[in-house]
Amino acid sequence: MKKVRFFQSIHFKFVLIYILLILIATQIIGAYFVQKQEENNITNFRNSINERVDVLAYSVEKEMAEKRSEGDPTLEEEIAKLLNDFKSEDISEISVVDKNHQVLAVSNYDAKSTVGKKSITDPVNKALSGGTYNNMMVNKKGERMRVVAVPVNSSEGTIGAIYLEASMESLYEQMKQVNAIFAKGTLLSLLLTAILGILLARTITRPMSDMRRQALEMAKGNFSRKVKVYGYDEIGQLAITFNNLTRKLQEAQATTEGERRKLASVLTNMTDGVIATDRKGRVILINEPAGQMLDVSRETVLSESILRLLNIEKEYTFDTLLEEQNSLILEFDKYDEPYILRATVSPIQKETGFINGIIVVLHDITEQEKIDRERREFVANVSHELRTPLTTMRSYLEALAEGAWQDKEIAPRFLDVTQTETERMIRLVNDLLQLSRMDSRDYHLTKSQVDFIDFYNHIIDRFDMSKSQNIEFVRKLPEGPISIQFDQDKITQVLDNIISNAIKYSPEGGKVTFSVQPQEFFILVSVKDEGMGIPREKVKKIFERFYRVDKARTRQLGGTGLGLAIAREMIEAHKGEIWAESKEGKGTTIHFTLPLQVEQDEDEWI
Ligand code: ATP
Ligand code: MG
Repeated sequence: MKKVRFFQSIHFKFVLIYILLILIATQIIGAYFVQKQEENNITNFRNSINERVDVLAYSVEKEMAEKRSEGDPTLEEEIAKLLNDFKSEDISEISVVDKNHQVLAVSNYDAKSTVGKKSITDPVNKALSGGTYNNMMVNKKGERMRVVAVPVNSSEGTIGAIYLEASMESLYEQMKQVNAIFAKGTLLSLLLTAILGILLARTITRPMSDMRRQALEMAKGNFSRKVKVYGYDEIGQLAITFNNLTRKLQEAQATTEGERRKLASVLTNMTDGVIATDRKGRVILINEPAGQMLDVSRETVLSESILRLLNIEKEYTFDTLLEEQNSLILEFDKYDEPYILRATVSPIQKETGFINGIIVVLHDITEQEKIDRERREFVANVSHELRTPLTTMRSYLEALAEGAWQDKEIAPRFLDVTQTETERMIRLVNDLLQLSRMDSRDYHLTKSQVDFIDFYNHIIDRFDMSKSQNIEFVRKLPEGPISIQFDQDKITQVLDNIISNAIKYSPEGGKVTFSVQPQEFFILVSVKDEGMGIPREKVKKIFERFYRVDKARTRQLGGTGLGLAIAREMIEAHKGEIWAESKEGKGTTIHFTLPLQVEQDEDEWI
């Protein structure tokens, strides 16, 4: 989170508001006080001057009215004395004028020369005409002065005037000092306010930054911190509530985490694949089995469309997928083998009914489908294999019944055919029985310790003697005996089928090679022919039940397609392996292995 800048901080705002408040208050009080004070001072000053001038006017009138005899001081001298007594610091100049505008005396020494001269200034004129002049003016030096002129009245009317100039500078100087005191007081109070503001802001911001730090820690998953409670005011209560909230959150988080773990372990340990999407159909969760089933890496498919992931973009939209009631069957190819999944779709609904996404559960039904298909194919094959000889027999028997039995030439041939077909059916049924016993493990291997080379030679000899075609047998067998444990009947059956196949599919004059190669743990038995071979893609399939490369031809040769299937079961029962190698037109080799040593504790019953 970003750090709070100083100018945005509560600290700053608090201090600023405090300072402004105090500033406004002091300014208002100060302005009001100073103004009142100034008014008062000026009034007082004016009153005191007026009173003093009145007293002076009275004294001057007395002097002027007095009769003087020879030898007495002159009127001018008397008045000059009066003025001298009257002089004070704030009064800068006083002059007395008689009714003829003639200056009788001045207080100021510098203005002595004006004595005896006429003064016809406005204030003097006004005073001599009986009025009073009282005004403020600024003199040449820039000083503020109060100018007062009053008449000197006697019973005969105005007999003179007094002119007075008083400096107001000392009064203003006083006001200036008061202002300075105010300014200093304001500054001091602002400083104190700022300090108080900082302290007060701290009591609020400290728990708040504590809570902020804790919220940040909580976001990181650390619930161990606690906010310090500084007091039981509103902020203290908030801190307590915050601590409670933290505890509750911690509990809720632990519960959620537990649930999440449970869900995760259920999802990973289940065999079915599970995919969850958001409400737009984008993958938000996919478990390991689903990733494996769809052969995708879980990280890369997150937020991919479910339709694309399941490859059903052409058939469905997200809405039609939601409406789909049945589960979908998805067919894929995995390592060139069909891979079938059943997908069940269910919506994730909120209480309001709003669909938040879907859950798709994938179930691998390849094996089940394969078994079902094999079962169907098997039933079809068996019925087909039985119907062919039966229909043949029926037509021959019908012909016989219709009179062919009397024909000495045809009748034995027809009976011969029905007998061959019956034998074929018996062989087929026997083969099927044997396979069914092997499927249900209802058989017993009667193993005996026998020299395999000797045993193999005997079988080859039998075929050598009875073969009707001109086929060369080549034996590549080791000299010495190789004694192993096996069920002679079963392995005879296996070899019979392999060798008869080799002969069956070999051309006239072909070569069949028999070999045995002892290895460390097993012997490798191979029968190689130079016959027609098997197309590459079909080589693996010849071990399947009823599988024949060329159905029409093999049926002619009398095969049912069960021989190699039985051989495989038997070799596997001996813990060996069987496989084929073939090149079309060049020939086929069938290999199988038999273990050299049988484990001691192995059960004879399989
Ligand atoms: P059965 O053995 O039951 O009489 P079959 O010989 O047709 O009938 P399998 O032995 O199981 O059945 O063989 C399956 C198929 O494999 C045969 O039909 C044939 O097409 C093919 N096959 C087996 N061996 C050879 C071989 N040596 N050369 C060419 N094709 C072969
Ligand atoms: Mg065969």
